[in-house]
Amino acid sequence: MTRPLLMLDHDGVVVDSFEIFTTSFLEGCRRVGLPQIATSDDVLALFEGNFYESLREAGADDAQISAAMRRTADVLRIAMSALRPFPLMPEVLAELGEARHLVIVSSNARGVVELFLKRHGIAGVAEVVGAEAGRSKVAKVEALIARFPGQARYWFVGDTAGDMREARLAGATPLGVAWGWHGREQLEEAGAERIAETPADLLAIVAPELTADFLGTG
Ligand SMILES: [Mg+2]
Repeated sequence: MTRPLLMLDHDGVVVDSFEIFTTSFLEGCRRVGLPQIATSDDVLALFEGNFYESLREAGADDAQISAAMRRTADVLRIAMSALRPFPLMPEVLAELGEARHLVIVSSNARGVVELFLKRHGIAGVAEVVGAEAGRSKVAKVEALIARFPGQARYWFVGDTAGDMREARLAGATPLGVAWGWHGREQLEEAGAERIAETPADLLAIVAPELTADFLGTG
C-alpha cells in the first residue's frame, strides 16, 4: 500500500540555514544590482508570500532572480559543512519516513537540499521538489496532492507566512514550526492550522500513532 503523502519545507524546518542563506543571498542581490534587498529583515519580508513573486514585486527581473539564486546555491554548497539540521529533526524524519511518503518542497535548488540530506545522513525523505520544478509552491503542492488522492488531510510543514498561505491555496493543511524564520503569531495570521513547538511535537501532530514508539513508551 502507498504511504500517505506528507510535505515539508526545507530551510527553517529541517536545516538551520537562516544566517548562511541570508548572507549568501544578500551578497547575490548586491552582485546582480538589487540594492533594495539589503538586510536580513528585507529577506524575511520576501517570505511573507511566494519568495519569487515577492522578489518581482521588489523590482527584480527574471534574469536577476536566476543569477542571485545561482550565486546563493553556489555559496550554500561551499558552506554546506557549516549548515546543521535542527536537533531531533533527523530522528523525526527517519521515523516519519517509515510511515509517510515524505516530500521536501523547497524554493531552494534541489541539489542543495539533496547534498545536505546526504551529508548529514538524513534518511526518510522520498523526494525533493526544488526550484527547478517551478517557482510556485501552490502548483507544486497541487501536483503532489493529485498523485495521492483520497487523504483526509495533506499536511504541509513550513516555517514562513508564505508557506502557510501557499499551502492553503493548494488545498493542503499548513502546520507551522516554532523554530524557523517567522514567529508563531505571523504563522497563525497567515493561516497555520497548528504550531509545532518541537520536532517531537511535530511528530505527535502529523503521525500520533508513531509517537509512543518514538518516545520509547510504546
Ligand atoms: Mg522555510
